[in-house]
Amino acid sequence: MSKQGFTTDIVHGDRITGSEHGGVHQPIHTSVQYGFERVEDLIGVFQGTKKGGFNYARQGTPTTAALERKITRLEEGAGTICFSTGMAAITATFLTLLRAGDHLVSSRYVFGNTNSLFGTLRTLGVEVTTVDACDVENVKNAIRPNTRMVFVETIANPGTQIPDLQGIGDVCRERGIAYVVDNTITSPALFKPKAVGASLVINSLTKTIAGHGAALGGAVTDTGLFDWSAYPNIADDYRRSAAKEQGLLQIRKKGLRDMGAALSSEQAHTIAMGAETLALRVKQSSDNALALAQFLEGHAAIGKVFYPGLKSHPQYEVAQALFKGASWLLSFELLNAERMIEVVNALKLPIKATGLGDTRTLIIPVAPTIFFEAGAETRKAMGISDGMLRLSAGIEDIDDLIEDFSQALKLAA
Ligand SMILES: *Cc1c(COP(=O)(O)O)cnc(C)c1O
Repeated sequence: MSKQGFTTDIVHGDRITGSEHGGVHQPIHTSVQYGFERVEDLIGVFQGTKKGGFNYARQGTPTTAALERKITRLEEGAGTICFSTGMAAITATFLTLLRAGDHLVSSRYVFGNTNSLFGTLRTLGVEVTTVDACDVENVKNAIRPNTRMVFVETIANPGTQIPDLQGIGDVCRERGIAYVVDNTITSPALFKPKAVGASLVINSLTKTIAGHGAALGGAVTDTGLFDWSAYPNIADDYRRSAAKEQGLLQIRKKGLRDMGAALSSEQAHTIAMGAETLALRVKQSSDNALALAQFLEGHAAIGKVFYPGLKSHPQYEVAQALFKGASWLLSFELLNAERMIEVVNALKLPIKATGLGDTRTLIIPVAPTIFFEAGAETRKAMGISDGMLRLSAGIEDIDDLIEDFSQALKLAA
C-alpha cells in the first residue's frame, strides 16, 4: 500500500501493529514487574538481546511502548522515548548527551523553563551560548571546537520567532553537531523537523499532541539521521549497539532508567487517545488563530500582532515554506496597557490560564505572569511590552471567538 495519510495512519496504527483480543487501541498495562517462564528471557531483556521485552515499568511498559511507536510514526523517526513531562525529555537529552567542558548553542527565544535549565547546565560545567537563531550566521559564529549540540524551538513563545531551521540543519550536518529541535508548538501535524536535518525531536505531549489538557508527557524522537558512532559522549557500554541506536539507547538507560522520570501507562493511554485527532484539532485551531490574528491586526485598540501566518511577520516566508500552517500560538499588544485587566476579564470564552495547545482557547497577560520573574530589563530586551497578551487558540467556532473579542476590546479605547 502507498504511504497513508497522517490521520489514517494514526487512527489505525495500534490495530496494525497488533493489539490483544483485536482491541482497536492499546490497553492500559499497569504491571510494574514483568515475569518470564524461562530465566534466559529475563536475562535477555536485561542484556538487550531479547528485543521488545519489559522488565520494570520505569524503563517502559507495553502501553508507553505503543505511544512511543505512535510518536515515531508521526515524526517519521527511527525511535522514540517517552517521559513524564516535556521538561523531563529535554533534561534527559541534555544531561545524557552533554558533559562538563562541552558547549551548547541555543536559540535565545526558548520556553522559559528550558532557559532556566540552561542555568543548571552552566553550574554543571556545560557552556551555553544563546543567540538570535533567526539568522543562521549568529549560530555559525557561536560554534566552537567543543560545540556538541544546537537547540532550537520551531516557533518561540510568546514572540513567535522562527529560527532558520533549514540553514541551521545544514551547518550542523557539515560540522557533525547534534541538532535538537523542540517541535512542541508546531507538532508533527504541521512540521517534521527530520525534513531540515534534525538529529533529535522533542515534543511536550502535554500540549498539542494530547490536546485535552488532561495529561502530562514528553518525548524525544531520534530521526535516524545523526551518526552517533562519531559522537564523543557515548559510553562504551552503548557502543556495542548499531551506530543509529546509540544515542537513544544512552538516553533510555541514563535518562529514563537512572533519572527516573517515567511516563505512567494511564497517562500514556490518555495521551494516545488525544493524539488520534491531532491533525483535525491543529487544522481548526490554526485556522482560528489566523482569523483572530487578521481581526486583531486591523483593530484600532491593538498594536503589534505576532503571528507567523501574517505577511507582516518577519519569518512569514519561512513558515509558508516549511509548515503546513502557522499554528495556534499568537501574541498581540494592547495599545492601552492600563486597560488590560478590564479587557481580559470581559472575555467570556478564552480561559484565563497558562498552558498551550488545548482544545479550549487560553489567554494570559505575559509581563505580570510567565515573564514576571525575568524582570523589566529582560522583558524589554525580549520585546515583551506591558500590554502583551499570549493566546493559545482552541477549536471553538470562529464566529464566537471574534464576537467575544469584539465586545471585550470595546473597553480598550
Ligand atoms: C510546555 C513546553 C515544554 C515543557 O513541556 P511540559 O510537558 O509542560 O513539561 C517544552 N517546550 C515547549 C516549547 C513548551 O511549550
